[in-house]
Amino acid sequence: MVNNDIISEVAERLLEAQPASALTGAGISVESGIPPFRGREGLWSRYDPEEYATIEAFNRDPAKVWQMLKEMMELLIRAKPNPAHLALAELERLGFLSSVITQNIDGLHQRAGSKKVIELHGSGDRLICTECRKVFPISPDLLLTLPPRCPCGGILRPDVVFFGEPLPEEAFSAALAEASSSRLFFVIGTSAVVYPAASLPLIAKREGAVIVEINQEQTVLAAGISHYFLEGSAGVVLPKLLLEVRRRIS
Ligand code: NAD
Repeated sequence: MVNNDIISEVAERLLEAQPASALTGAGISVESGIPPFRGREGLWSRYDPEEYATIEAFNRDPAKVWQMLKEMMELLIRAKPNPAHLALAELERLGFLSSVITQNIDGLHQRAGSKKVIELHGSGDRLICTECRKVFPISPDLLLTLPPRCPCGGILRPDVVFFGEPLPEEAFSAALAEASSSRLFFVIGTSAVVYPAASLPLIAKREGAVIVEINQEQTVLAAGISHYFLEGSAGVVLPKLLLEVRRRIS
């Protein structure tokens, strides 16, 4: 249940604790129809991420992994930003959020209007040739034959980070800089167990940030890391927070 008193207190803190940044995970896109990894519903109950989301699995049998990727890509192509993505974009526009650091590959923050988005795990918006590195914007036509291939004959892969691969260095350094300089750090819709992204709230806290977590259930951060826990769906909590911020600046 969303606690309105805590939302109001967080709005108060957000106005004074600048700059602020947000780390988001799969949970923020659930209300856009994209299932998270660790839920009962959807893709991941049928496709074990260990078997379908590792770089070893992709290299071993790209056609098999592409069956899952195709379903995921089709979901991503159809998905639209929800009120949580829109509220974060508006907080940035109003000057109360300097960046969004996302573990998601769905591009929904950008489509909602967020300008500074750091993608830690790449983007499902494009495919890249494993041979010549040519990049192709995602389109349903590319997914007609699996695995999709480049005109050069190489197999295409999504430009995302599979389990077992390092994060893009530039994105992670930018995320570290944001976490270290933030005075308030949101952690939204992430189970905070996938490293190194999960280290960012710990770093932000060590550097003095107020940690505000928004999730439907308690995570590992509840024990001693989060200063505020806003329980509820991101699509409900964030618009309420935005309303509270607007009330204070109007
Ligand atoms: P996760 O699946 O481990 O955890 C999702 C979290 O979101 C859970 O803690 C859950 O309680 C919470 N949640 C679910 N619905 C919510 C809602 N409506 N509002 C607020 N919280 C909600 O996701 P993760 O921590 O991001 O880590 C899994 C990895 O999966 C990430 O690396 C990410 O790249 C990848 N992934 C991305 C997408 C996407 O791009 N949309 C989808 C699935 C998985």
